[in-house]
Amino acid sequence: MKILVINAGSSSLKYQLIDMDSKSVMAKGLCERIGIEGSNLSHTNIAKDEKTVIEKPMKDHGDAIQMVIDALVDEKIGVISSMDEIGAVGHRVVHGAEEFATSCLVTEAVMKALEKCTPLAPLHNPPNIIGIEACKKIMPNVPMVAVFDTAFHQTMPPKAYMYALPYELYENDRIRKYGFHGTSHKYVSQQAAEFLGKKPEELKIVTCHLGNGSSITAVDGGKSVDTSMGFTPLDGVPMGTRTGSMDPAVVTYLIEHGRSAEEVDRLMNKDSGVAGISGVSSDFRDLSAAAKDGNERAKLALDMFAYQVKKCIGEYAAAMGGLDAVVFTAGVGENDAETRKAIVDGLEFMGVKIDDAKNNARGTVDISADGAAVKTLVIPTNEELMIAIDTQRIIEG
Ligand code: ADP
Repeated sequence: MKILVINAGSSSLKYQLIDMDSKSVMAKGLCERIGIEGSNLSHTNIAKDEKTVIEKPMKDHGDAIQMVIDALVDEKIGVISSMDEIGAVGHRVVHGAEEFATSCLVTEAVMKALEKCTPLAPLHNPPNIIGIEACKKIMPNVPMVAVFDTAFHQTMPPKAYMYALPYELYENDRIRKYGFHGTSHKYVSQQAAEFLGKKPEELKIVTCHLGNGSSITAVDGGKSVDTSMGFTPLDGVPMGTRTGSMDPAVVTYLIEHGRSAEEVDRLMNKDSGVAGISGVSSDFRDLSAAAKDGNERAKLALDMFAYQVKKCIGEYAAAMGGLDAVVFTAGVGENDAETRKAIVDGLEFMGVKIDDAKNNARGTVDISADGAAVKTLVIPTNEELMIAIDTQRIIEG
């Protein structure tokens, strides 16, 4: 079976065609500037290791999907002989609210329920829905599955997901913690169990997805029991350009002192985080270089990040009443040995200790020091493969 994985954004669309027998990517690519002048598709045929860029107007997501299909079946750059080889399509959907606790087959009822989730993710869900509709038009007989960033966290208990606001705000406005990056946390926690030769049910794991956006999750017995992102992906640890948690009274203070809600929203999402603190960059490579050159604010940004992630690991070990493994993943988690070291430094008292030489390795690796009671692992995330695995599971019933 071959599964097409689609991640549709407002003006972009990422895709991968995955062969489920070998769990390998056959082709991948990106449509950019959909509906904007200068739209183009960059398509990579993995077996040939060949990237092709095609510039062609794409007025909407329907045009983009048609171009993706054309590229996949193309004699020169394609990887399949006809569209019929695509057994199913897995769609990434950002917000499934309380409606979706698992991935599900797309039906008319599901499309209606998806619309109900839109107010909670006004920027992300609409393009996801448009992507599904465009695919349904072009491939009416191919089963589609929606896979949600929030679904893995639906196992959190109320004491973890409720905010101490008047209860009506939960009942009427659905204000609660939802959590994000669920597909990644699920994938790396499952991979960690497999790597350790244990069943997920036997393990208490803290997964640290550290990228441009970062979130930490407590995975107890294979289930998410708490996570650092909240009602939106702004909550939790400081990120590339997002504040993470802070006293919410700062927001009312800024508004009372003349900023609009829109300005504060932009400030917290785009101008803050390690970029806002350092004034240098949101990229950890730039921050590390600047810190080494003596830039104090870059050093502060890195210190703040490591400190908050460290605190979160401790918090979640306490929440689970124990800890078997810490997992690092995503751009920073997979590549930045110094940040990993800064995060776990000082956690020896709870059994977390890494080996400096092992910490410099790449790929899926156990970086724990010999004899450490808690395993520290680096596991590359693979959200597309997780979406494809879930898609296959759903359509095969
Ligand atoms: P996204 O959240 O957009 O999916 P990624 O998980 O790809 O982001 O992470 C991107 C971030 O990873 C970059 O902004 C950069 O800070 C960091 N990163 C990538 N490679 C390295 C590296 N070799 N060393 C340190 N940081 C890195």
